[in-house]
Amino acid sequence: MNPPTPHAGFPGAIWPAVPRAPAAAFLAVLEQLARSQFLDVEDLEAARLPQIVALVQQASRAFPFWKRRFSKIGLGPDAIDRGNLDLKTWQSRWAGLPVLTRAEVQTLGDELRTTLLPAGHGNISESVTSGSSGRPVRFVRTTLDLFYLHAFQLREHMWRRRNLFGKFLSIVRDEERKGPAEGLHLRRMDNWGPPVSVVWPTGPFILVDYRAPVSALIDAIREHAPDYLCSFPSLLCEIARQVRDSGIQVPPLSEVIGMGEASPPELAELCREVWGASYTSTYSAAECGAIAYECPEAGHWHIQSERSVVEVLDAENQPCKPGESGRVVLTPLHNFAMPLFRYEIGDLATVGEGRCPCGRKLPMLAAIPGRARDLLMLPSGEFRPPYYGHGAVMKVRAIRQHQVVQTSPGQICFRLAVARPLTAQEEQHIIQHASASLGNGISIRIEYVPEILRRPSGKFAEFERTF
Ligand SMILES: [Zn+2]
Repeated sequence: MNPPTPHAGFPGAIWPAVPRAPAAAFLAVLEQLARSQFLDVEDLEAARLPQIVALVQQASRAFPFWKRRFSKIGLGPDAIDRGNLDLKTWQSRWAGLPVLTRAEVQTLGDELRTTLLPAGHGNISESVTSGSSGRPVRFVRTTLDLFYLHAFQLREHMWRRRNLFGKFLSIVRDEERKGPAEGLHLRRMDNWGPPVSVVWPTGPFILVDYRAPVSALIDAIREHAPDYLCSFPSLLCEIARQVRDSGIQVPPLSEVIGMGEASPPELAELCREVWGASYTSTYSAAECGAIAYECPEAGHWHIQSERSVVEVLDAENQPCKPGESGRVVLTPLHNFAMPLFRYEIGDLATVGEGRCPCGRKLPMLAAIPGRARDLLMLPSGEFRPPYYGHGAVMKVRAIRQHQVVQTSPGQICFRLAVARPLTAQEEQHIIQHASASLGNGISIRIEYVPEILRRPSGKFAEFERTF
């Protein structure tokens, strides 16, 4: 569905609407993004270069660390300020810029943050992302960066052609929830909230805190009958499984949206079965928001190249070829308070190939196998995504929740919460299929638990390595 007419900025400017300032700015950026998605890669990179140069200028001015790094590759302030760099020269120098690791960001701390900003970038806000090995990283961003982050959220609504007048129900963490004793915590809002409501009139929004029994969450979904349901993929899975297994009748949904975690492979099929709905998720990071969106027409992901430079690099820091998997290295383009160049965020992705039938020319990722910190360590010391025969294991329908924990290079534990005790045959089925997928040298045991708890944020790790 096409978006509705934007909010009018004043009486009598209703159609075509003359929007207020913040809405007008969003619409202006969306209009440019609607065209840039169809640009050839070279044209897009050429259009993007002045933004990268401006970011490098800021970094060289405000950060001795970045000034040193750029000078070493021939991009010191003099070379940059001359301003006559062509794309080819730029790319060859860029390839010499070292990759910035998460550990470096943690160690460098304040050296990577500044309050010296050009006019128009607004205020600085701070957020903390949960790091690997529990070491948090502190990030700062400007008002302008947040504006861009929101603009790309709006782009996703456009790509999905969501009906903005629909009812949106989101199950996440709600800080307004009082204490653990409280039952279901639910708030009803008149609109979807910013950034959507800044630009367009919308339908109602229902915010449900995730800390409630799944049966209570299902009751809330039945009572409010939303068009859109958004939550953590693992929780959506639990909800869908419980609805399916108990035979409860639930109203259909237009779309189920996963956020914040990797999606279990069976979730899309569960959503079709239970709600007759499509399932979508986004690939994003706290540092820049959108990294890639699933193509609305084909099964792969389009990199949001106007928001950041996304590279997929092999072990030698060379770009991966189509079909190859490597480490995701990110350069967000709009945050002048904390520029990060070639920042390795700890994810793996597979480079896509060919042309997309949707006509968009934004580069593609074929798959996002996972976060590096969630990788399985083989007895040889190598890492790989933790596939463990998920599809076969999930055929045991009595499994309500599962978590696969690697406790040592040779030990995997399946933690299961079950609707009824498993038979010896079912246990054998799990161990047999998991062994076949995991390979030699890894022993498997099953542990039964009443419930698998989420992290305080509400996120859930289907696979965890504890060493
Ligand atoms: Zn596409």
